Amino acid sequence: MPANGAEICARCHELGRGCCTLGASGEREMFPLTHSEVEVIAAATGLKPVDFVVADRPAAAFLDFARRLHPLFERCMPGGVRLRLRITEGRCSLLGPGGCRLAAAARPMYCRLYPFFFTPDNRLMVLMSPRCLAQEGAKHWREVLARMHETEDNLRRIFELYQSLAASHAGGSRHLLSQLVTDLGGRPQGS
Ligand code: SF4
Ligand code: SF4
Repeated sequence: MPANGAEICARCHELGRGCCTLGASGEREMFPLTHSEVEVIAAATGLKPVDFVVADRPAAAFLDFARRLHPLFERCMPGGVRLRLRITEGRCSLLGPGGCRLAAAARPMYCRLYPFFFTPDNRLMVLMSPRCLAQEGAKHWREVLARMHETEDNLRRIFELYQSLAASHAGGSRHLLSQLVTDLGGRPQGS
């Protein structure tokens, strides 16, 4: 749930759609978090990382897909280990009745970008989804941008920050990962 599309995103959630509720692909295809994003969420909510993050090993097909989508995902999943948001009954555990419980600035980067992303050659793209109300009937990505009250410049700023967090993820994630591994009973969930 991005920061700027509050109205359309609220309608989307009321309809039981929305990017914070998982579709058929479920947990298998969730994008990874960086350790810095986990720390920001923990500081903003007072929750322990284990309360809202799961460490797992996604299937090879998803790793390939993510790496082809953008090289930053390689840096976010060193050794094929992913930190992802915890899912409860098919929904992100941070989703409340009125939408995301996090302030916009504390949300994961990919939540703030969605339904947009950038290609490896830095062009803005829409991650097409039939579940996204902002995309329904839109004929051009600019139409989606307008419905979300978003600007390309702002998305570029968020994406640059995401890239810098990804670049420092591998070194900083070890402490967090060992904490999650302990909390999860010795091994990353799904390994
Ligand atoms: S963190 Fe917030 S915006 Fe992101 S998936 Fe969870 S509820 Fe949605
Ligand atoms: S799926 Fe699209 S319209 Fe729905 S909450 Fe997410 S970004 Fe907003």
